[in-house]
Amino acid sequence: MNICPHCAGAFVLGRDIESAFGIQMVVKRILHCSKCNTLMSTKIINGIEVDICPSCGMVWLDKSELAKLWISKPMQKTVQARK
Ligand SMILES: [Zn+2]
Repeated sequence: MNICPHCAGAFVLGRDIESAFGIQMVVKRILHCSKCNTLMSTKIINGIEVDICPSCGMVWLDKSELAKLWISKPMQKTVQARK
């Protein structure tokens, strides 16, 4: 933690705040669909924030979201990869 000598404000890592106070930081993202370039909207699925394209229905999951979603729905529906 770095404290400013002028205003006594502090620079703190987000994860330090989270671990100290249990606050989950929400970062608002602006994403465009990789398929049709429409601005994606954020939805909550199983308590996990995902980005969905309102136009073509594509869903964007980042690495941690994908893992969380996978853990929250264990092995009931196996998604087959299309080749
Ligand atoms: Zn799209």
